[in-house]
Amino acid sequence: MTERLVAWFEINKRDLPWRKTRDPYAIWVSEIMLQQTQVATVIPYFERWMGSLPSISHLADADPQQLLKLWEGLGYYTRVKNMQKAALRIVELHESVFPTDFQHILALNGIGPYTAGAISSIAFNQPSPILDGNVIRILTRLFALKTDVQTNVAKIELWTLARELVEQAHASMPDRPQACSHFNQAMMELGATVCLPKKPLCGVCPVAEWCEARKAGTQEQFPINSKKTEYTKRYFCTLIFQRENQFLIRQRSAAEVNGMLWEFPTTEIDESEFKATFAQSKRKHTLLGTVKFAITRYHNKLVAIRQSDPLNKNLPDGIWKTLTELKALPFSSAQKRVLQLLLEPHPAKTAEQPTLL
Ligand code: SF4
Repeated sequence: MTERLVAWFEINKRDLPWRKTRDPYAIWVSEIMLQQTQVATVIPYFERWMGSLPSISHLADADPQQLLKLWEGLGYYTRVKNMQKAALRIVELHESVFPTDFQHILALNGIGPYTAGAISSIAFNQPSPILDGNVIRILTRLFALKTDVQTNVAKIELWTLARELVEQAHASMPDRPQACSHFNQAMMELGATVCLPKKPLCGVCPVAEWCEARKAGTQEQFPINSKKTEYTKRYFCTLIFQRENQFLIRQRSAAEVNGMLWEFPTTEIDESEFKATFAQSKRKHTLLGTVKFAITRYHNKLVAIRQSDPLNKNLPDGIWKTLTELKALPFSSAQKRVLQLLLEPHPAKTAEQPTLL
């Protein structure tokens, strides 16, 4: 089965920029970017990053604001901060050379067992297992595993299976220098393109003949997962203060979510305040627009309002910047969309049709 999967991958793999290299640094960057983010979104970020910071030393020496700007829009900014800490550790402990030892990779900031396994197998062809949502789906279907994947029993079982399979690939293809790399990537690719959560494409699956769930026609019942994500709604109000051609912004503190990113003054409000603020600003023609965004289990709505006559107001703390200066600073995804509303104003449309809600 492992040989079939590797052969399938070598013919069917998508042409992705991080697949053109075995540089562990590039593979690490791609794996961190791909957490929680679609491949198509990651490609331009990856290319921009590698163009600006082509090596571990470049990352270690980079200005943190440059890093946030390169990451702007990808979200989960702790990832990029951890990457710089890890790069500094590699410079300090490993003479700027990415470690090859699995335990040394795992010890780096922001690198868990999945990412360590991906780097170790893809860059160094070591038989290290990987286990993420895609691999869990494939394994539970292949072996018709009925254990709830939230339990520790299932986690141990799945990691064991993932390890056994990559070791089997390593042992059965000794003449192939990339057997482990291609096996793990094949699992990732199969999960992303064939063994889909709904309506898996079993007709073109290279491992269909070994798949217990397919034989029983129960593919979509796997994985068995007792935990359902519960979403919480949150509401925010963003105020746009303008003096001539400058706008008031502030930098979030390092301890806050989205720390060190910039934003227009924003406060959290409740749903009734949100509705009242929205209706009032629409009536007064001060509504700039609305933005919907999701962060982990939070579904958020933000209303952005222009504030008139700021000289007479008790202004929040912040600094004044022109639009050109704002474009050079890192903002969170939601705040970047507010900036976009300022950069591409459609007064009638924004006031009358808050279509983003
Ligand atoms: Fe997934 Fe279908 Fe392949 Fe089984 S046969 S691994 S369910 S795509």
